Amino acid sequence: MILSCKDIHKSFGGIKAIQGCSFTVKKNKITAIIGPNGSGKTTMFNVISKLIDPDSGTIEFDGQDVTSLKDYELSKLGISRTFQDVKLFQNLTIREHLQIALSDSDERLLSNLFRTKDVESEKIQEVMEIVGLDKPLETYATDLSYGQRKLLDLAIGIAKPHSLLMLDEPVAGVNPRLRDSIKNILRELNNRGESILLIEHDMNFVMDLVDHIFVMDAGKVIAEGSPEEIQNDPYVLAAYLGNCGDEEEIECWT
Ligand code: ADP
Ligand code: MG
Repeated sequence: MILSCKDIHKSFGGIKAIQGCSFTVKKNKITAIIGPNGSGKTTMFNVISKLIDPDSGTIEFDGQDVTSLKDYELSKLGISRTFQDVKLFQNLTIREHLQIALSDSDERLLSNLFRTKDVESEKIQEVMEIVGLDKPLETYATDLSYGQRKLLDLAIGIAKPHSLLMLDEPVAGVNPRLRDSIKNILRELNNRGESILLIEHDMNFVMDLVDHIFVMDAGKVIAEGSPEEIQNDPYVLAAYLGNCGDEEEIECWT
């Protein structure tokens, strides 16, 4: 187990965004959090990566209680995350973005992804090849299409030294071809031993890719299981998929 969240609560004023959320993430697996809009998925990511503090509850990462750590301390410990809305610097190039990501360098953690201590440019090349971003390194972020920016964002997430990769809606808004190639990228990363926690609305993407699913609603986990179990969970079907018609019910959240 690499991550464990226990009984997390978080309110924003009167909004109870997280109400006793607990889940665990296993090493070397792909785990998904799914659930309707506003169910608290991104807030959980923000709590885990310490962008915000929980009101109560505990977070353990790699066997260590990290609940009171700061965000930079946690990223040093090995959590790398991407955001639902891609955050890039318009006036920086691909190379500069990846240099910044790599400069978080901690060789002990970096060895997790890069087998040898290659020079920086080789690391950049390797990350570019992993994500298949076919653009010159000197291209500015502002000159990339939406899909290419999603890939660069993923490349940055991979380049940062980490032992857990957290992706908030990695295929939101991308075309089906790119969605399939991102699926293959994540599979390949997982084959190399990456532990991945992702939030995703695209149910077909999730069902086809991940090992384990947590379903969130109203700030807590209401079901968990393998993709098969979730697809056949009567409670999940009744609560979320049942009112979308009998056909294609699995696509209701897309
Ligand atoms: P999801 O990612 O599952 O769509 P979010 O975690 O973004 O859901 O949001 C959960 C709830 O918390 C929503 O009601 C949202 O409006 C609220 N919320 C999230 N972040 C904030 C914030 N910074 N301030 C106030 N309310 C917030
Ligand atoms: Mg969200």
